[in-house]
Amino acid sequence: MEEIEIIGKDAADMSSNNGSGLLDSSADNILYFAEKADQYIAAMNKIMDAALKITNERDWCLIGGNPYLQESGATKIARLFGISVQLIGQPKIECDTQGYKTFTYKARFMLKEQFIECEGSRSASEDFFAGKGRAKKPDEIDERDVKMAAYTNCLNNGIKRLIPGLRGLDVDTLERAGFNISRISGYTFKTGSRGGKSDKAEDSELMCESCGKAVSQKVASYSQGKFGKILCMECQAQNK
Ligand SMILES: [Zn+2]
Repeated sequence: MEEIEIIGKDAADMSSNNGSGLLDSSADNILYFAEKADQYIAAMNKIMDAALKITNERDWCLIGGNPYLQESGATKIARLFGISVQLIGQPKIECDTQGYKTFTYKARFMLKEQFIECEGSRSASEDFFAGKGRAKKPDEIDERDVKMAAYTNCLNNGIKRLIPGLRGLDVDTLERAGFNISRISGYTFKTGSRGGKSDKAEDSELMCESCGKAVSQKVASYSQGKFGKILCMECQAQNK
């Protein structure tokens, strides 16, 4: 898990407690908090609308049915809200006994006077890169792909930390925002003989949990997000 620390004027102000520490739960205060909560939700919805409007299908991917920002999408959203991203040092590289490398990026995400620091890592040993059962040897894997994915993971972590509404985002929310989910690339970690990258149904080793038909990575990931299980397109239609 990433380490988070918030340093800045606002954070310092919040921590200074100049009362007894006891909350007055009188009716006035309850109403005040209810109003604040409404304002918070309205503000968060506005932020989410803006974030979704500025991105398109190519800025997202579905992993196991959950939407993740691609590097392009994370960059657009960061720019929209004036979040600046600064990498801290060089990526950390760890190598396991079989030679598979794990890359870890650390970055500082600055928003006004606050900043947070987040990490993101990906490993060449993951099914997505190495294939199921590490079918690919370390030297058959393009290191740049793993590095890029680690960097994107770091961006996702930072931006989702600053914009909490993006954290629990699901396929339905994207659909309601007008996204054509079939145009979003997707894969699932469940199985996948070619490391989840092949989008041909017959190569994916994924089967419809209802009728047993072969299902592509993309269809499987969409289905996991939408129905919580892997269904072929025909069975998805029947489930609607
Ligand atoms: Zn089916």
